Amino acid sequence: MINRRSLTFRLVFWYCGLLMVLGGAFSAYVYIGFGHYLRETLRITLSARAEAAWDLVRQAGDNPAKLAQWVEQRFAPEAFERFMRISRDGQVIYVSGPLHGRLKEPAAIAKPWADDLGRLREVPLTAGGSMQIYSVAHDTADGHHVVIETGRTSDALDAASDSLEATLLVALPILLLLAAGGGYVLVRRAFAPLADMITAAEALTFNSPHNRLPLAATGDQVEELGHSLNRMLERLDHAYQHARRFSADAAHELRTPLTIMRGELELIALRDDVAADIQASVGNALDEGVRLGQIVESLLSLARLDSIGGKREHKRVDLRALTIETIDQMQLVAEAKAIALTCAEGVPLTVLGDRDRLKQVMVNLLDNAIKYTPAGGRVWVEMAAAGDKARVTVSDTGIGIAPEDQPLVFERFFRVAASRGESGAGLGLAIVKSICLAHGGSVTLDSGPGQGSRFRLELPLAG
Ligand code: ADP
Repeated sequence: MINRRSLTFRLVFWYCGLLMVLGGAFSAYVYIGFGHYLRETLRITLSARAEAAWDLVRQAGDNPAKLAQWVEQRFAPEAFERFMRISRDGQVIYVSGPLHGRLKEPAAIAKPWADDLGRLREVPLTAGGSMQIYSVAHDTADGHHVVIETGRTSDALDAASDSLEATLLVALPILLLLAAGGGYVLVRRAFAPLADMITAAEALTFNSPHNRLPLAATGDQVEELGHSLNRMLERLDHAYQHARRFSADAAHELRTPLTIMRGELELIALRDDVAADIQASVGNALDEGVRLGQIVESLLSLARLDSIGGKREHKRVDLRALTIETIDQMQLVAEAKAIALTCAEGVPLTVLGDRDRLKQVMVNLLDNAIKYTPAGGRVWVEMAAAGDKARVTVSDTGIGIAPEDQPLVFERFFRVAASRGESGAGLGLAIVKSICLAHGGSVTLDSGPGQGSRFRLELPLAG
């Protein structure tokens, strides 16, 4: 399917359109010019013949029979499909014979008007076609007015024009086709580096910050554009690295004062000589301090995942054992909420990666499932191998997620309005997604309001 908006199509289209207009104009010019040239050549030939006949008229004097004989000898008009008529003082003194099948009565051809003299005029023939006649007038020394007409059928003229017309009609479309084909190939070749750059640009992500656009050494504007875009990517990369370092540093710097603050608050909370209302306030501040600490830890995790692609270690991890272990550890939390947390036996799944981070993924998903499922609900985990991928699904019978929120839950700090009452900062799923991507895997969500949720992890199996 041709893309009409593509630059290649538009360039070739306009270029062929222009070529068609110019080719048409040039052909018309050649055709008309050639017609003029042929008529002019014929006029010169006929005028030379009329001048030769005038010589004969002068030599023949008052003897028309002699004139006729000389003209026949010299020009043989009928044999060459020619016409000749000589009049003196309005009286025809010689006229050539009929042309076989073309001109029955040469004498019946109308005499030239005064303004026909010295130029060609066209006379239709009885059996189709036409004849070009040139007329010239001379006065003899003894005062007679002689008009000489010489003519010839337009057949050669018409044939030459027709053959030129046919050539142009065939040549022009072929030329256009060749130009369109050639233009298409050339434009495509010129734009090939652009297509490569588009493909490379589509594949650029912040996970591959050092990748740049491929540059073909064409020395043209396309190469220049590539250099400019690569310089822009360089600047963006610097800015992005700077922002990442900033959040990592900020999270890191916040850790120590937060720990000290929590320690101090815990000490106050333990003191007996503090009034109960102050102790309650200190307890609240401590809770918020713990929450703040969790947010800072999550931010630090994300910053580290961003900066090192998340895969610190590259070891074989038994994903099934890791999942079962995590589920066992989360049983207490589930029981406290009267939620049945179960796991199908599954198959052995070994992946390459960082065990601690993969554990973090399971903890975050299970924690969410328990958190967003009302008491008496169910959370279950299934494990399977799908091709060369390990697949782990965490399903629950919880509140579910509306379709419009589903693409957003993996964003940093996004929380569905309905779940704001629960603890959390909206970073858990962002961490899950970052870890999965860093392990060459993916996480997808299948959910609906009131229908529970199913998070599906896919990670490449170790070879
Ligand atoms: P939070 O710390 O708020 O749980 P997450 O990034 O883990 O942050 O989750 C983002 C949002 O996605 C949550 O606030 C919640 O609204 C929604 N969510 C996550 N898991 C579930 C689930 N199993 N069921 C319903 N909603 C969920």
